[in-house]
Amino acid sequence: MDATLSKRVLLLSVATSYRVAAYQRAATALGLETLIACDGNHALASELYEGISVDLQSVDATKTRLCREHQARPFCAVVAVDDATVELASVVAEALGLPHNPVTAAKRTTRKDLARQCLAEAGLETLKFKRLDLRIPIEQQLDGIEFPCVIKPLAMSGSRGVMRADNPEELARRCERAARIVAHARHADERTHLLVESFLPGGEVALEGLLHDGELEVLAIFDKPDPLDGPYFEETYYITPSRLPGAVQQQVISCVANAATAFGLVRGPVHAEVRVDGSGARLIELAARTIGGDCARLMEFGTGHTLESLVLSNASGLSIERHAASGAAGVLMLPTQHAGTLRRVEGVLDALKVDGVKDVVITVREGYELVPLPEGNSYLGFVFATAGDPADVERTLREAHRRLNVVVAPSWKIEPVNVSRA
Ligand code: ADP
Ligand code: CA
Repeated sequence: MDATLSKRVLLLSVATSYRVAAYQRAATALGLETLIACDGNHALASELYEGISVDLQSVDATKTRLCREHQARPFCAVVAVDDATVELASVVAEALGLPHNPVTAAKRTTRKDLARQCLAEAGLETLKFKRLDLRIPIEQQLDGIEFPCVIKPLAMSGSRGVMRADNPEELARRCERAARIVAHARHADERTHLLVESFLPGGEVALEGLLHDGELEVLAIFDKPDPLDGPYFEETYYITPSRLPGAVQQQVISCVANAATAFGLVRGPVHAEVRVDGSGARLIELAARTIGGDCARLMEFGTGHTLESLVLSNASGLSIERHAASGAAGVLMLPTQHAGTLRRVEGVLDALKVDGVKDVVITVREGYELVPLPEGNSYLGFVFATAGDPADVERTLREAHRRLNVVVAPSWKIEPVNVSRA
């Protein structure tokens, strides 16, 4: 069969991804078939859906295996379900001769140092940045660093390891802490280096979009109404539509569109974070994936479609009509504030009673060990709300938050006692 007639999409995913089910539902609704390729021998996906298990680390073997599948029954598109498969999806689509982002463009979205470098070369970067070598004393690498600054791992997500430092001593201490966080990163370079960049003051927004032949379609701009001044950067409230003046929103859109062009991205989803202050909009991050966690659910509000349907239709060349949004919607990502063992989350029913709250989802079970940022990066759960305007959504979410009480018990580790024998 000709690949152009195919209605079969290849989904690339990590075994633990909770996004697969949402993609599967969207595919079924669009009349698309799927094959899920994910790592792990007993991947849940392959038990529930048509799936095969691949070793995501062995790029060549995965490519060969998926080429065989493609020859037997062609795919029309390759879609990365999560961040970890974005680059591989480009590599595989290239090998299969299917539309894709250039592999170098995909790589820039997963490596923060390459991203800044690329923006600088395109004349789009205004902040100072450099790589720090963790094997050399930080005091010897202060040249060109502006304070306050932010350090971050080269390739992590969810604000893990991202810390602000206001002076050289603090920077050295934070780097020691970050070194322990990146110690188990996948690539050697990511274990020995961090990125340091100037701290950008101002408010922050997130932009969800889709690229069509290099053109950016904006699906939503989210305000993050809580200040994100550090020293760690935990996300909490996301509210759309943005309350920023139209002209500032245009600056945000241009900033993201220019960065996507500089990276060389042409298709698929983008999730960007942008800081805005009096001097304009400046890019923090541009990822070639959808918004994380359950937050994708918010997109239905703005477009009338799930984010997964929009991504799948974009990838497979189907067009689906957008519906204009009315009113406002938001999510609160429940932060992990204290380390310890989760006992229970009280007040869920009370929070659900707040007018406008649509759902309260607690994703962590009792007995789990909670690790706050910067070491950890998991959220306890999500509260969703809709209302007539963004200010009402914010009030609703804050009231729901006030009614929730997270009960955490300290974790005690029993150290083995050295018993010396006589
Ligand atoms: P991650 O991929 O882990 O999300 P980001 O680079 O997006 O890492 O940083 C996480 C958060 O840290 C951002 O959303 C922002 O609030 C804050 N941050 C990162 N870099 C800067 C910076 N240069 N100036 C100010 N805040 C920053
Ligand atoms: Ca980010």
